[in-house]
Amino acid sequence: MLLFTPGPTPTPEFIRNALALPTIHHRTQEFESIFSETRELLKDMIKMPEVLMLSSSGSGAMEASLLTFCAKKVLTINSGKFGERFSKIANAFNIPYIEITNEWDTPAGLECVINALKANPDIDAICMQVCESAGGLRHSYEVIAKAIKEYNKDVTVIIDAITAMGVEPLDVSNVDVLIGGSQKAFMLPAGMSIIGLSQFALEKLESRNVGFYFNLKTELKNQQKNTTAWSAPVSLATGLCAFLKEAKKIGYENIYKETKARSLACDCVMENLGLRIYPKIPALAMTTVIDDDAEKVRKMLKNDFNVNIAGGQDRLKGKIFRINHMGIIPIHEISWVVNAIELCLSKLKRREFNGLANQIFLQQYYSIMES
Ligand SMILES: *Cc1c(COP(=O)(O)O)cnc(C)c1O
Repeated sequence: MLLFTPGPTPTPEFIRNALALPTIHHRTQEFESIFSETRELLKDMIKMPEVLMLSSSGSGAMEASLLTFCAKKVLTINSGKFGERFSKIANAFNIPYIEITNEWDTPAGLECVINALKANPDIDAICMQVCESAGGLRHSYEVIAKAIKEYNKDVTVIIDAITAMGVEPLDVSNVDVLIGGSQKAFMLPAGMSIIGLSQFALEKLESRNVGFYFNLKTELKNQQKNTTAWSAPVSLATGLCAFLKEAKKIGYENIYKETKARSLACDCVMENLGLRIYPKIPALAMTTVIDDDAEKVRKMLKNDFNVNIAGGQDRLKGKIFRINHMGIIPIHEISWVVNAIELCLSKLKRREFNGLANQIFLQQYYSIMES
């Protein structure tokens, strides 16, 4: 079965081999050296002065970041399930929040954000996604982050980059907290989250001794000594180290370019097959199609063509399908996926099969790669 869901992503053999190594104890020189190497590789990748690795799925890092960096009121952007999650976290911990809600195909508007800051001078943190995975949309987080810092440099900008880290080069010049997760572009199983920290975040952390298990101040103190506050997720750290070494060898610029080419070429195929891309501004991490037959296509792909793609959740349940582009994905695999989608449409008597999907995909892919 080809795994083409936007999390979890497939785990290639070189990472599976790293995950399969015998368990070592985490309070050893041996582990500290793996952890230290992983920390340095991560900092180099995300271009931030500090990074933390937590033993949790992505949501754990979202919770830890919000609790740590918001002392008064948080502004959240809800253009889907993951943006909404920040509001739910605030709600669960009785943290006052202002939520900007949009349709799930609509990215955050800059004016709304600035107006909310003007109307609520006590907002000291903002949380938003780079890619809102619910509808596969890309927020202009870099433009919004810049405007926020120009308006008030003391607002902590918390960015959920779980489906963007490792997908595209991220501008972190106005970002304080950048969140990642192991099961997306890092091609690992779920269970480790990543938090990049800016100089501003590091200074703020000094006075924010919040929480117990997810106490980022305690974590930072330990992780700067290449150890973790609690038992470390040793195999995931070893797997992450293997991924980062390989990614560095391939070159991040090459990975970003190939991801972009696969993603844009796939979007283009969908449109040429007469399908509609759902988000107004699509993210590169996934191709999201809205269609009355979305569920039929998803099931047919799984049962007849051995391809596992994702559907939608909540209000988009049964209405969309999502194809992953995160990770180091062999081009022939996505080529197989678009071909299978064309075959599905022919089985559904929507259009006659003529090999257009593969033709468009390859033309687009190579023209983007050569540009
Ligand atoms: C996957 C994902 C998360 C994290 O979800 P977990 O299931 O907790 O790992 C958060 N934000 C976005 C945008 C995601 O795609």
